[in-house]
Amino acid sequence: MNEYDIVIVGAGPGGSTAAKEAAEKGLKTIFFERGRKPGNKNSSGTGLGPRLWREFDFMKEINSDDCPSIREGRAARNYMIDNDGKVTGYIMTTPTASVEYEPAKSWITLNCYRSDFDPWLAKYATDAGAELKTSTLITGLLKEDGKVVGVIDEKGEKYRGLVIGADGAVSMVAQQSGLRKRWGQKQVTLTLQYDFECSASKIDDVMGDEALAVWWSATFPAAYQVFFNSSFHIGLGNWMTWWDKNPVHYLNKVINLDYMQRLIRVLEAKPREFQAHLLPWMGTPENTHTDNVILIGDAGGFPCPLEAEGIYPAMVTARAAIDAAAEAISAGDTSKDFLSIYDMKWKATSVGEDFKSGPELQSIWMALPFSPRKSMSWFVPMFMEILGGIIDWSEPHPVRIRQIARSLKKYLPQAVPFIMQEVLPLLTSVLGEEKMEMLTDPAKLMAEMPEIQEAMMQAFMDAPKEED
Ligand SMILES: Cc1cc2nc3c(=O)[nH]c(=O)nc-3n(C[C@H](O)[C@H](O)[C@H](O)COP(=O)(O)OP(=O)(O)OC[C@H]3O[C@@H](n4cnc5c(N)ncnc54)[C@H](O)[C@@H]3O)c2cc1C
Repeated sequence: MNEYDIVIVGAGPGGSTAAKEAAEKGLKTIFFERGRKPGNKNSSGTGLGPRLWREFDFMKEINSDDCPSIREGRAARNYMIDNDGKVTGYIMTTPTASVEYEPAKSWITLNCYRSDFDPWLAKYATDAGAELKTSTLITGLLKEDGKVVGVIDEKGEKYRGLVIGADGAVSMVAQQSGLRKRWGQKQVTLTLQYDFECSASKIDDVMGDEALAVWWSATFPAAYQVFFNSSFHIGLGNWMTWWDKNPVHYLNKVINLDYMQRLIRVLEAKPREFQAHLLPWMGTPENTHTDNVILIGDAGGFPCPLEAEGIYPAMVTARAAIDAAAEAISAGDTSKDFLSIYDMKWKATSVGEDFKSGPELQSIWMALPFSPRKSMSWFVPMFMEILGGIIDWSEPHPVRIRQIARSLKKYLPQAVPFIMQEVLPLLTSVLGEEKMEMLTDPAKLMAEMPEIQEAMMQAFMDAPKEED
């Protein structure tokens, strides 16, 4: 029998962070990866968000020598696709003036392949003293008196210790520990993507800083495009309840857009890989631990409830899990009851902050970009009426404004219920009941916002007097 304090299944971002944190605390730690190396069996690439840099100091050391696929996403394009499957407009966005975290003022994501990122991260764990076993599939949980005490690999080798389930969306640890049989249909998405290669200089010339794109559409669920050093991928996904056709049909709609084909031509891009993955996407993570077992990252259902950013939550929940595990081990009590401190710990992080409004965030996302026929079919033309309607020289401007206003009126029967059912509950959850009342009552708004009052007073004082 191999004895450890901590036994981690999976060497993705969650598993490697857990292994690093555990080894740094002096816990005897082993982590297992079924692939030949970490990052072997994963989605081709990923956008890493600035919160990672704020939370994990070592992220500042990431560089293109170790991770050659890196490209900074300084700007994002938002394409709008109408009911006829035509790109009717796009907006480019960069970090806005309200961004407070200094490093995030000039970039949105750092895009990096998982085949670069995962081994880079795992090395921090092995350098800290954790033992990594690659090409090792963990097939079962070791149990005594019905309780989990460790894991068993495909060769029957047994490893004893507190088990961290970092084994991704289809988590064996979650299933065999009894924490979950399978995901509910509204808890998990199927995500597909094509990966294209092209030259780095073409991407520089054609896209510049715009290394991210979202294709908001009335004919397919929102699709994303992420550019890496010399490649890009295009993908889309949706909850299992949505698909009425083979999902590839919808991904091909994105690829076959005239606009996309033009882009592929000018970039001289060549498709090289197709991938399909499950990605948990839910409003509230549940059943995160039991006796001697903790689930982190995708295994625990932690991707962000709005955009399903999953690397950061995997790494943050890894840290919370190891904090909880270390306390449990030192108290000699790894029972489910004691490990409930894990829930307190992750809820106190910025991942917990996202999940405070998780159900509302997930619901609005599900109801808008992921309901192309029901919602985007009116949202895209409405949005483009405002944006594109202004840029029109067909009539005198007052006439155009009247035409636009008349046209917007016809979207009210869809827009108003959407605002009532999705937008107001989200605002209430984020701002709280009191602040919502304030928004609908100008007197309360003024009382609550002395800055506005002060600015109005100032404007009044500064206004030229009649005698001036
Ligand atoms: C198409 C797609 C695009 C995405 N894009 C982004 C993005 O841009 N940014 C972002 O932050 N997130 C993104 N995500 C989400 C992100 O990939 C996941 O949330 C993240 O990988 C979760 O990390 P993890 O460590 O929990 O699990 P995983 O990354 O899934 O790692 C699990 C590891 O465990 C190993 N493993 C599994 N079972 C066993 C076993 N029985 N024995 C041994 N090893 C095992 C696997 O091989 C794997 O290496 C994306 C997801 C998908 C599907």
